[in-house]
Amino acid sequence: MTKLIKTIEELHKELESLPKPVGLVPTMGALHNGHISLIKAASEECKTVIVYVFVNPLQFAPNEDYKEYPRDLDRDLKKCQENNVHILFAPPVEEVYQDESNKALVEVPYNLSSILCGKTRRNHFSGVATVIKRFIELIKPENIYFGQKDYQQVHVIKWLVKNFQFPTIVRECPIVREDSGLALSSRNKRLKGDQKEIALNLYKSLNYAKQNMKTGIFTPGKAILESIVFLSNVKGLEVEYFEARKNEDLSEVSDKERKNFRFFIAAKVGDVRLIDNIEV
Ligand code: AMP
Repeated sequence: MTKLIKTIEELHKELESLPKPVGLVPTMGALHNGHISLIKAASEECKTVIVYVFVNPLQFAPNEDYKEYPRDLDRDLKKCQENNVHILFAPPVEEVYQDESNKALVEVPYNLSSILCGKTRRNHFSGVATVIKRFIELIKPENIYFGQKDYQQVHVIKWLVKNFQFPTIVRECPIVREDSGLALSSRNKRLKGDQKEIALNLYKSLNYAKQNMKTGIFTPGKAILESIVFLSNVKGLEVEYFEARKNEDLSEVSDKERKNFRFFIAAKVGDVRLIDNIEV
């Protein structure tokens, strides 16, 4: 039975009696099978599984979709129950950021925060690092689980844990997709009419780049160029970036490289911003 908890006091009381290791799955809710894959990974490795649902205002810019972000706590609770989650922690904003010091922004190194999504979402990763630091300090989980769909975020969290010397292990889980290839995302709920069909082109372009690399037809540079040309012909889709970055540190990829990197894409379908990536 999942216990829904909304206050830090109640959470700490509950944690006293729950066995370790504790696995934490941070989410912004509207849970889907991508989130469930993290919950399953946590259940395999930990005696106690905590999911938090918190739409973190610090990681949204004023022009972004903080207000429109899908929220459905009743459904999230049901999903947690189905997957034997012990605690669903869903605190209100005032509970998480009780005083100013709680929202003092963590400064993420420039080489991580200024690339890919950081180019257009300038304080986004500081907001992410700040909220994850807060929850790690509150819960002190042995393990914390993230999806590779947000691959840049995984790197930011690994930096965070190392920088603050948290004894928490960061686990990363593969991207879960629909049969069509579309990466699951809470934001997919905001796609209307033919927008879902249009959104399939993110994965199509990543896969096209990867397959042509594998057969030796493309270099990374050529793959990027061809993908951008392909995507520029898709009506209703606006590419923000299509790039190749190394798995290890997200540094740039030379045209000689043939493996150990990923193609990354961010694009807008209408006003819905989607991201995806693929390993080569
Ligand atoms: P979000 O609720 O979008 O902040 O995501 C919470 C966590 O779930 C993050 O670690 C995401 O990377 C992960 N996640 C979201 N979508 C997927 C997916 N399709 N496959 C795997 N993990 C995902």
